[in-house]
Amino acid sequence: MLLALALAAGTARCATAPLPTPQAPSPQASADVTLRVEVAVGGKQRILTLPLEEYVSGSVPAEMPLNEPDTAVAERLARLQAILARTYALANRGRHAHEGFDLCSTTHCQVYTPPERQPAEVARLVSAAVEQTGGQIITDGHGPIQALFHADCGGHTSSATDVWGGPAPGYLAGVRDSFCVTAPTTDWHLTLNRDHLRRILNTSSDTAIGQRLDQIAVVIRDRSGRAASITVVGEERRVLQGERLRAVISEQLGPRAFRSTRFRVEQQADRILFSGQGFGHGVGLCQTGAIVQARQGEPVRAILAHYYPGTWLEPLPDATTRLSAANSRLRRAITRR
Ligand SMILES: [Zn+2]
Ligand SMILES: [Zn+2]
Repeated sequence: MLLALALAAGTARCATAPLPTPQAPSPQASADVTLRVEVAVGGKQRILTLPLEEYVSGSVPAEMPLNEPDTAVAERLARLQAILARTYALANRGRHAHEGFDLCSTTHCQVYTPPERQPAEVARLVSAAVEQTGGQIITDGHGPIQALFHADCGGHTSSATDVWGGPAPGYLAGVRDSFCVTAPTTDWHLTLNRDHLRRILNTSSDTAIGQRLDQIAVVIRDRSGRAASITVVGEERRVLQGERLRAVISEQLGPRAFRSTRFRVEQQADRILFSGQGFGHGVGLCQTGAIVQARQGEPVRAILAHYYPGTWLEPLPDATTRLSAANSRLRRAITRR
């Protein structure tokens, strides 16, 4: 009963509190904005100065799978990602200022593929989506929001505070997601030999435990069910943040092995079994859940309202003039998808 009520409340928020209707897009204003983007060209890192909308066109297909059988769904997802890419770029412009550019083109910022390297069909789809959403960004009234996204939240998005510490805007406090859990890819499993996990932990001084691994246990979970604090006991005893454990394992085994901190751990004689849901840090928009909603015909602005509650769409240039202090702090803290 409680679950049913919670589900109903979650759905009601979408249905009864839609984002205010956006004003007319302002392509002229966004055309005036340029970004310095570090891109690998011919094996070398180059800094390209790109108009905002061209940058968005190169980021959309690199960050969102668009191979949907239903063209209308692919178009909706391209529009959604165009708004995300534009908002993210403006909120994080200057993140690499100390290195002489605005944004890198890896998952540290946003992946970027020059439009000329995209298949013609994808480039056409993206170009139309970028034009249709021209100049639109997501705002909470304090400039472009920190439009973080990730592959799959596993059923509840994370609070940015729980993941990175410090204060964070209310739209990144975490929401329930009943959509991604219906996708077949949400569960993951990883079995490691006890000695293999010990050696992985010993690759970094802050997680090293010495010659034995006796025990690993989740001691604190956050509100979204993620492992916030983990104790690892060997020759030395460590208390690790969930994201730190994910990072040290990912550095050795790649990002797809230990996909999220929404996991359970089971210990057997010589093996450690991890099983979890989701992929990524879990903060902001869940792409798997957004894809499920897009397939159900949910409009772009309703999908955005679900994952970033209390925000709305606004045209440039109004939104570019104010960058909140919370955003400036967050963009230094965010580490990985
Ligand atoms: Zn970067
Ligand atoms: Zn989700």
